[in-house]
Amino acid sequence: HARRVEGFDKNIWVEFTQLISDYKVVNLGQGFPDFGPPSFMQEAYCNAICGGASMHQYTRAFGYPRLVKIIAKFFGRIMGREIDPMEEVLITVGAYHALFCTFQALVDEGDEVIIVEPFFDCYEPMVMMAGGTPVYIPLKPKEVTGSALSSADWLLCPEEVASKFNPRTKAIVINTPNNPLGKVFQRDELQMIADLCIKHDVLCISDEVYEWLTYDGEHHIKIASLPGMWERTVTIGSAGKSFCATGWKVGWAMCSGHILKHLKTFHQNSVYHCPTAPQEAVAVGFQREYDVFGTEESYFRQLPAQLHAKRLKLAKSLRSVGLQPILPQGGYFMTTDISSLKVELNDPDTKDEPYDYRFVKWLIKEKGLAAIPVSGFYSPEHRADFQNYIRFCFVKEDSTLEAAEDILRQWN
Ligand code: PMP
Ligand code: GLN
Repeated sequence: HARRVEGFDKNIWVEFTQLISDYKVVNLGQGFPDFGPPSFMQEAYCNAICGGASMHQYTRAFGYPRLVKIIAKFFGRIMGREIDPMEEVLITVGAYHALFCTFQALVDEGDEVIIVEPFFDCYEPMVMMAGGTPVYIPLKPKEVTGSALSSADWLLCPEEVASKFNPRTKAIVINTPNNPLGKVFQRDELQMIADLCIKHDVLCISDEVYEWLTYDGEHHIKIASLPGMWERTVTIGSAGKSFCATGWKVGWAMCSGHILKHLKTFHQNSVYHCPTAPQEAVAVGFQREYDVFGTEESYFRQLPAQLHAKRLKLAKSLRSVGLQPILPQGGYFMTTDISSLKVELNDPDTKDEPYDYRFVKWLIKEKGLAAIPVSGFYSPEHRADFQNYIRFCFVKEDSTLEAAEDILRQWN
């Protein structure tokens, strides 16, 4: 085997998805809806596959023309700038592939890439497979007393962030709203990062797959819209997350043409292009959203409203059994400290694993409830400090959330 695959054979999603499929569980694990996309998207998909021969054949390498055009128009309006659909938008196999193209195209041997912790796990192996070295900067919880915990309490220390930048730094990766905490980065936090990127001539890779999902008046801000940042930011999005169609695996990277051209080189020499029919369907979805943007009819408004209620429902269930959830400002995950549960874990097969891994395995096998251990979102150096948190996904039918609540209540 090649050296570049060494050490990356374990994967939290492969491991837990397999385990979950072996047991009968209420699944609040991996982040995907247990309901379908909205009917206008389902129709668009059906129309696409019945839409004639061209829908079943190759399309343009870097993105189906109708899709790149509407994405450029849609985000161009939001960002108040002209985006060139052919030069500044790249369609990828989900946000995963956008991330992979980005790291492969921009990170070299010896480059350092700063990653905000906790982070969506794949950033670490992807940086390393490109030959880069991840450098971690932790979000730390500030002391809070009494009031409910919120992802807003998790902050970066500006001096510590600044200390991570050096002449080897190639890029910083941020994820807002963040997976797993649900933190939505505020303008001053983004500005602090932007100032450092500009000062040190560093790229920003901004994973915004949960961009529509913000709650309680929070507002998603694109770091690429801050002065001087378009030229150095790769913004990554996902139709899977935007339209509740994770199985379609349509994602994109958007950035200035002088950067995107390198992502294209990697793309044309790897997948060449992505499936045609789902791109047509996503194009129809974005056109609809463009037309109704900001109105009650917009799915990008309806989905967070729906999820807001689910988020409160899950928080209530967790509180009812004495857990203290960290209320997310965005995204569709909720984390909670489990140390108060004092569960005796004595499965000898898992005795060398972090506590949260062992706890979730016990939860799946013994209680029929699936979650994801949060230490998997930390670097090896910091994993041990965060083995008392688990993550629940709430983009689920109310009946699923209620079944989870029943399980939680019964074991108390
Ligand atoms: N980034 C984050 C933060 C995610 O949670 C996910 C999981 N879906 C992805 C990227 C990958 O998205 P996609 O399913 O579009 O590949
Ligand atoms: N982003 C989703 C999650 O965090 C799915 C991850 C995956 O499928 N690998 O649960």
